[in-house]
Order: sequence, then C-alpha cells, then structure tokens
Amino acid sequence: MSATPQQVLVIAEHDDGQLKLATLAAVRCAQQLCRDTNGQFEILVLGSSVASIADALTSYGAANVLVAEHAALEHPVADKHAQIIAELAMARHMTAVIGAASTFSKDVLPRAAALLDAGMLSDVIAIDPSGGEYVFERILFAGNAIATVTLAGPLRVLTVRPSAYSAPEPSTTKSPVVAVSIVVASLPNQIQFVSREERQAGRPDATEARIVVSGGRALKNAEDYERLVGGLADVLHAAVGSSRALVDAGITPNSLQIGQTGKIVAPDLYIALGISGAIQHLAGMKDARTIVAINQDAEAPIFEIADYGLVGDVYQVVPELITKLKPA
Ligand SMILES: Cc1cc2nc3c(=O)[nH]c(=O)nc-3n(C[C@H](O)[C@H](O)[C@H](O)COP(=O)(O)OP(=O)(O)OC[C@H]3O[C@@H](n4cnc5c(N)ncnc54)[C@H](O)[C@@H]3O)c2cc1C
Repeated sequence: MSATPQQVLVIAEHDDGQLKLATLAAVRCAQQLCRDTNGQFEILVLGSSVASIADALTSYGAANVLVAEHAALEHPVADKHAQIIAELAMARHMTAVIGAASTFSKDVLPRAAALLDAGMLSDVIAIDPSGGEYVFERILFAGNAIATVTLAGPLRVLTVRPSAYSAPEPSTTKSPVVAVSIVVASLPNQIQFVSREERQAGRPDATEARIVVSGGRALKNAEDYERLVGGLADVLHAAVGSSRALVDAGITPNSLQIGQTGKIVAPDLYIALGISGAIQHLAGMKDARTIVAINQDAEAPIFEIADYGLVGDVYQVVPELITKLKPA
C-alpha cells in the first residue's frame, strides 16, 4: 500500500537575525517524507524583520517559504506563534507540522498540536511510510530506548532530533517567498515578553557549534570554570556547556546545562572536562561525532563512550592544552 502524499509545514527557528541550523534537520525530514510520498512541503518563518532568514531557506526545495512578519512576533511568545501555526496548517490542509527538537519547539508545538486536535510526537529519529501507515522511531528514557510507534489521525505534529537528520545541501533553484497575512488583534495575548538575558557575547550557542567544551563538578568555582572551560573553548572557537552539578551549585547558568533536562547537542567534537558521564548528561551529548573526556578517575563512565580519553587532573592538563593550542 502506498502512503498518501504529504503536505508538510516546517517551522523555521531563528535567533538574533540568524537561522538556527537545527531547522535544516526538520527540512531534511520533510524532504524525505515528501520524496517517499510524492508530497510537498512549505517552510514557515515567523517573526519581525525576517526577510534574510526566509531568503536563506529558499534553496531547499520547499514549494513556498511562507513569511508571517509583524512587530508583535519579534519575540517567540508561544501562544501567538502556536495559533498562527495551527491556523496556517488548517488553511493549507497540512498533514504534518515538523520542527527541530529544541526548547523553542517544546514551548510552541504542543500548543499548536492541541489547537489542531492533532497527535504529537517529540524526538523523532526515523519515519517509515512504506507500509501505508506511518511508523515512527523516537527516543525515550534519556536516549536509552527507542520506541517504535504509530500515530492516529490525519494530521501529525512532530519534532525531530537534529542529530538524526543531517543538513540538506542547498540547490540553485529558489522557492518563492510568500507573505501570509496575520490579524494580530485575533491572537492570544496571555503571555507577555518581559526581558531576555543574553548569553555571554562572543561564544556560539552549544546547539549550533561544531565544538563544545563542557565542564563538570571537577571545576570548583565560576573563576576556574571560566579560566579552564572558557579558556579552552576560546582557543578552539567553541561553545561552552556544563553538567547539571555545576548548575545546581550556582557555578554556571541553567542555559549552559547539557543533558536530559538541558540542551541536546550533537557537535563534531565534544570535550568533557571533569564530568563523570551520568546517563542524564550522556542523553544530551552522546550523538557528538567525536567525544574527548578528561577525568582523573580511570573508571569514570564517560570513558565508556569517549573516543579519546585522558586520565588526569583538569587543573593540570587543561592549562597545558590551552597553552599548546594558543596561536603563537
Ligand atoms: C531527573 C534528572 C535529570 C537530570 N538531568 C541532567 C542533565 O540534563 N544534565 C546533567 O549533566 N545532569 C543531569 N542530572 C544529574 C546527573 O545525574 C549527574 O548528577 C550529573 O550529570 C553529574 O555531574 P558531574 O559529572 O559534573 O558530577 P560528578 O558525577 O560528581 O562527576 C564529577 C567527575 O569529575 C571528576 N573529577 C573531579 N575532580 C577532577 C579533577 N581535578 N580533574 C579531572 N577530573 C576530576 C570525578 O572523577 C568525577 O568523575 C539529572 C539527574 C536527574 C535525577
């Protein structure tokens, strides 16, 4: 039995005028789904002053890049975004809405699914439409189990793991950019944006970076964290991350936490400094292409998943590494 052609709406994510690369994982998933079912996908960019984001998304084979632009959408306030997504999905007869698995999607897409009365699956890593009924694989229990599930109903809302879908190659054929009108007065107004605490300037976001240097309980205070973890990250032009132990101790902000209850990252290189390798931490970084661990305990579980391990004291090893890696 062949699957029904899919009409997919991909939700673009951006920050500070930059497209979040995780969006391309959702685009890749939509491309595969549409190729397998002779369907088509559109990409929705919500926000204010998003012309360059929309333009960056025109090279991936979308039938249209839809732009819902208004000053009221400057900040990704979930209730407004969810309603626009739901209204567009209905009006354009979508069969799937797909976003990258991220903090933004966790906030917005379940609300959209509820408004659409649609089933929702998060952390999807594979979709098989071949049997006529869609079969999804998704991550469970901090990455320790994979569930194979089906989802009833004509419309599905999904988030996909960026590590499972590599970014597609851009093509020279351009998708049309289409403005969609929104009636701001009809949008919910329950959530008000108040303020935003910026991450430390000059370092990339851990979910976007090619290299992430992360610190654990071995770091005794914020100064040591900045000197060792920040110092190594800066010579490698890397992002910084942290285990929950440091967040709980007030040494690092919550925004840096990697793991089950923090950010999920899949960089080319993840360097774990003084992190034991608890399963909740591994859940956030085990899909990194290469993992390097430095830990003074040779029995630390992090060494079981590390590609390269160094048994040593981070207070001795890391300053030496920084000196060696610093350009002369
Ligand atoms: C529901 C739940 C959700 C959780 N979510 C997360 C999450 O999202 N992210 C997360 O990280 N944790 C999470 N945790 C906590 C997790 O279980 C661990 O407690 C935490 O990851 C431990 O952090 P750590 O590795 O920094 O500390 P520890 O486990 O204490 O490990 C410190 C390591 O540093 C090494 N060390 C000490 N001194 C040095 C030195 N000088 N040089 C080199 N090595 C040294 C030690 O040998 C040890 O291996 C969660 C827990 C629960 C229950």
